[in-house]
Amino acid sequence: MSWYQIIGHDKIKKILQNSIINNRISHAYCFIGIEGIGKDALAIQFAKVCNCEKPIIDDGFIDSCDKCHNCISIDNLAHPNLELIFSLPTGKSSDTKGDSAYDKLSSEQIEIIKDEIENKAKNHYLPLKIPNATQIKISSIRDVKQKLSLSSFNDKRRFVIVLKADEMNIEAENAFLKTLEEPQENITIILISSKPDSLLQTIISRCQQINFSPLDENKIVRKLILDNNSNEIDAKIAARFAQGSYLKALDFLDEENRVLRNEIVNLLRISLKKVKYREELVKNLKNFLKDKDKNQINKIMQMLIFWLNDVNIIKITGNSELIINSDDIQTIQKFFKGFGNKDIPKAINEIENYITMIYRNVNINLILISLFIKLRRIFID
Ligand SMILES: [Zn+2]
Repeated sequence: MSWYQIIGHDKIKKILQNSIINNRISHAYCFIGIEGIGKDALAIQFAKVCNCEKPIIDDGFIDSCDKCHNCISIDNLAHPNLELIFSLPTGKSSDTKGDSAYDKLSSEQIEIIKDEIENKAKNHYLPLKIPNATQIKISSIRDVKQKLSLSSFNDKRRFVIVLKADEMNIEAENAFLKTLEEPQENITIILISSKPDSLLQTIISRCQQINFSPLDENKIVRKLILDNNSNEIDAKIAARFAQGSYLKALDFLDEENRVLRNEIVNLLRISLKKVKYREELVKNLKNFLKDKDKNQINKIMQMLIFWLNDVNIIKITGNSELIINSDDIQTIQKFFKGFGNKDIPKAINEIENYITMIYRNVNINLILISLFIKLRRIFID
């Protein structure tokens, strides 16, 4: 990866580049922002540029060559000047002083961790998905401190990147605080977090804080198309759902979105039938809910909102190029002809109200029946 492959965050890239060029790199940073927007990727790139043997320098700009040994091994997350700290599962017994973070883990757990790091090496945006890894333990901090106390691999800068730093337990945080209080030459620590409120304020105040904004929707679309060969319609729908998170968009792309969207639009169609709608709605709803969890239902209801919003766009602008579900234009036009004179924003508002209920401890089947009956009243009565 080069700066160019990381989408958005142009100002932050500039700040980091300037710090390298002017030799004013901080000893500690805190990268803050929502999940899946490239904070890890940018931290790794920063470490790589600082370690590159032949960086590309041009008028206030510096980038990694991506060809030298250091670049390649940092990209592979396997360079001695790059230490990653992250949550690990609890071992068979609790850690005692002197144990390494990995001592109590089973060989299966260690294999999973290796695989996850390999995945992250291929795509720096990806999170590490290690089962039951909920805490960054003091032993992980100790391991890294131990390594940092040894002499450097070369004269370049060493980086410690703490992924999801808010997962440090209190002992780990206190141990870490000591490290921050005694900055070492040629070592930079980057804490990464989407939940800075869960970090000790004394830790954050010792770091240069860098705030990441959610990504621009169009930039997410372009990256999805470029990196995943996604078609434009799927990419646009995924990006709209992702609310600024590239990872969320990527996750969304994996599912059979169109099939799901058609299912929910079909339920709306059934609920607006002139006769015997109730029986058919109950039967189809049961099938629809069969293999879906609350998160999926939430997503699908959002899809229905976007779909109805497209009907409203046709109503207001008459311009079908502005809609998201452009593959479904015929059904949208048909719906507009039948129900375009009704209060579509009210229907959207109603769906939003019901979405908030999904996560309460309630019967989803009943909730959705009630929702569709409400929608029927808006569109028919
Ligand atoms: Zn290089």
